[in-house]
Amino acid sequence: MDNKKLAELLFGSITKTPEDYENMYPKRDLKEGAKVTRFAPSPTGFLHIGGLFAAFVSHLAAKRSGGVFFLRIEDTDKKREVENGVTGIVEGLRNFGIEIDEGMLTETDSIGNYGPYTQSMRKEIYQTYAKSLVEKGLAYPCFCTAEELDEIRKSQEEKKQNPGYYGEFAKCRDLTLEEIEEKINAGMPYVLRLKSPGDEAKRISFNDAIKGEIEMPENVQDIVLLKTDGIPTYHFAHAIDDHLMGTTDVIRGDEWISSAPVHLQLFEILGFTAPQYAHIAPVMKEDEETGGKRKLSKRKDPEAAVTYYHESGYPKEAVLEYLLTIANSNFEEWRMANPDSSKDEFEFSLSNMSKAGALFDLMKLNDISKNYICKLTKEEVYDATLSWANAANPEFAKLLAENKDYATSIFGIERGNEKPRKDIAKWEDTIDYCAYFFNKPESYEWAENIANADAIEILETYKTVYDKNETAEEWFPKVRDMAESLGYAKAPKMYKKDPDSFKGHVGDVATAIRVAVTGRRNSPDLYEIIQVLGYDEFLSRIDAAIDNLR
Ligand code: GLU
Repeated sequence: MDNKKLAELLFGSITKTPEDYENMYPKRDLKEGAKVTRFAPSPTGFLHIGGLFAAFVSHLAAKRSGGVFFLRIEDTDKKREVENGVTGIVEGLRNFGIEIDEGMLTETDSIGNYGPYTQSMRKEIYQTYAKSLVEKGLAYPCFCTAEELDEIRKSQEEKKQNPGYYGEFAKCRDLTLEEIEEKINAGMPYVLRLKSPGDEAKRISFNDAIKGEIEMPENVQDIVLLKTDGIPTYHFAHAIDDHLMGTTDVIRGDEWISSAPVHLQLFEILGFTAPQYAHIAPVMKEDEETGGKRKLSKRKDPEAAVTYYHESGYPKEAVLEYLLTIANSNFEEWRMANPDSSKDEFEFSLSNMSKAGALFDLMKLNDISKNYICKLTKEEVYDATLSWANAANPEFAKLLAENKDYATSIFGIERGNEKPRKDIAKWEDTIDYCAYFFNKPESYEWAENIANADAIEILETYKTVYDKNETAEEWFPKVRDMAESLGYAKAPKMYKKDPDSFKGHVGDVATAIRVAVTGRRNSPDLYEIIQVLGYDEFLSRIDAAIDNLR
C-alpha cells in the first residue's frame, strides 16, 4: 500500500507538517524542575468539587515549582457542552483563588502562546499529525458501521475473547488503496484508527506520581484517533495537546489509568516524550444508606458542586485549606505545629496524596472555616459578609450597608480575644447570627425549670440592677449577687449539693436574662450583646419579655 497516496487521499487539504507545529510551539524556557500542569475540563459549566480539587493540586504543583498552570477546554464531545460553560468554570476556579497563567479566560478570550486552548479550534493540528501517522503506516481509515462493530463484539463475547477492534478483528486494517478510494467515493463515512504496534504478550510499566509503579498489558487496540467528523478522541487530543503545550505533569482523575497504555503508545509512535502522570482518586463521601464510601455525586449531593461553597459563603481560604487537608494527610499535623503560618509554607507533595479516595467531610470543612473566620477582625468579617450578601442576599446586604457601624460591632462580640467564638462557618450563617440584633425576639426559649412568675421577678429586678456604665468585670458579680438576693445559689455547685434550699442557681438567672434579650438560650457573651444593643433597647426588650411571660 502506498501510504503517502493514502495520506493525500484522506488529508489532501492539510499542507503543514508536524515539524511546522514543533517550530510554532517551541520548548518552554523554564528553570530546571519547573512543572507545567493543566486543568482540562469539558465546557459543561458545572465544576465538581473533585474538579476543583484536581485543579487545585495541579495549580499547586506548578506554582510551587516555579512553573506554569493552564486551562484547556476539551470540547470534542459537543453533547456535553452548555452555553457559557467556559465562563462558569473560569469563575468557579477564580472564586477559589485559582488563577491561570495561560488558557481560556472566557468563551472566546485566552492568554498564552501555546494556544488555541480550546480543542475544537485545533482541528488542523490534529489532522496534520494524523496525516503523518497515515504516511508512516500507523493509522488507517475504518468504514465499519455500528452494526458491524456490534457483530464483532457479539462474536467475541461468544468465544470469550477480549472485546475491541484489534488483530484479526480489525477488518479495515488491510483494505487496499483501491478499496478505500471506492468507499470514499461512494460517500461512506469513516473514522481514523491507530494501527496499534502493540503485542498482547508484552507488558508496560510506568511510575505514577501518586499511585507509584503501575504495570499493565501493552495496548493492542486499534483505537479511534479521529471520529467521522474529523474531531479527535480524548486519547489523540491528549497526546498532541500536552506535547505541544509542554505539559510536564498530567494530573487527572484515576478513571484514566486504564487508558494509560494507549496514551503511552501514542506518545511513543508520535515521537513525543511522555509526561509524568499523576492519577488522583475521586473525592468520596460516607454513604449514610450503606455505611460505606461512595463518590460525591452531582445528582445526590449539593456539596458536589463548587458553586455550593461560593453561594453559601465559605471563605476561599477555608476551602483551600480544607482541600490541602484531604490532599496531603500530613498537612493537619503541620498545621497543628504551625497554627499561624500561611498555608503556602506547607511543603505539598504529590506522592503524599491518598491512593484511594479522599473522604470529603463537610463537618471538617466547617471546623476549618470557623477557625479561620474567628481569627478575622470585625471589619474583615463585615466586609466579607457584605460582599457575599451583595450577590446572595440583597435584602440582608442592604441591612448591613445601612447599619455599618452597628453590624461591625455585632461581629466584634467575643472577637480579638484569646479564645474567640466560633459561631460562623460561612457567611450565610451571619444571617441567623445577626437576627436578634436587628429584630426583637418573636419567640422565647424560656427554660422549663423557672416558673413564669420567677422569671418576671428576675427581669424586674435586673432592670434596676443593670448599670449601663458597668464594666465586663463588674457585670457578672452583680448578676451573682442579685441571684443570691432572690433565693438562687451563687454557683451551680452549691445548688447541686443542696437543691432544696434554692430556687435554682445563677446560671438559671443569667439564662432568663439572656432569653429575654435574645430570645435564645445560647448566645455569645450577654454583657457584650447588651452593650451593642444599647441601654434603651435593652430596657425595651426586658419589658417585651415580661409581657410575653404574663
Ligand atoms: N477532559 C478530560 C476530563 O474531563 C480531561 C482529563 C485530563 O485531565 O486529561 O476527564
